[in-house]
Amino acid sequence: MKSAADEPSFPKRDSWPEVVDPQVRAAFAAVPRAAFVAAELRNHAADDAPLPIGQGQTISQPYVVALMVQALALQSGEKVLEIGTGSGYETAILSTLTAVAGRPPGHNIYAVERLPRLAQQAEAALHALGYAPHLRIGDGAAGWPEEAPFSAMIVSAAAAHVPHPLWVQLAEGGRMVLPVGADVENQEIWLLRKQAGAMQIKRLGGVRFVPLISPLLDDPGNWAEG
Ligand code: SAH
Repeated sequence: MKSAADEPSFPKRDSWPEVVDPQVRAAFAAVPRAAFVAAELRNHAADDAPLPIGQGQTISQPYVVALMVQALALQSGEKVLEIGTGSGYETAILSTLTAVAGRPPGHNIYAVERLPRLAQQAEAALHALGYAPHLRIGDGAAGWPEEAPFSAMIVSAAAAHVPHPLWVQLAEGGRMVLPVGADVENQEIWLLRKQAGAMQIKRLGGVRFVPLISPLLDDPGNWAEG
């Protein structure tokens, strides 16, 4: 007989009414969040809330990740750039959503994290579950120029401006989802689309993310929007 323990942690039954994409719901049901948090926090892994992952950083709230990922409308095999790998949980979701039969999930995902310790933990957790994304330690605001263009990008840390290098590395027709806002009380998710080279912006509502830390963004020459 099925018990409550057999239910996936996410999405909970009747929760996340805004997350209507069945593939997004299935991806969250498939990825075990507990594998991406420290042992002492495992009993909170099923909470739909951010949790500490060390070094002052957090694993994002699953609901917020679901809304951002849904907005990207990812297709199998799409080349995706993720900035702020953190725990690797979202990397696993992206890998699942874009998986291609016969290839290791994540082969088309490129993820950048600035803190080496988190990047190493994420790599171990992802590999243990069979995901094979490309991971890099560095400043994600610079993107991953050798692998550009990317058809989709997701940034998991907030900045006051859209980093210009990311915009340049976004393919024509590509989508980027990111939290934008100078201070933590005043951030919102933007969905950008590159249409004939121009930036279309759709605002998806308020959020709270840790800051995107990048010396590049001190220079207005590296801001993409007006
Ligand atoms: N999606 C991740 C979110 C982690 S929090 C998860 O759910 O686990 C955001 C992450 O962005 C942190 O790990 C932080 O170290 C990282 N970060 C901040 N600025 C960055 C930058 N310039 N380049 C790459 N990563 C950055």
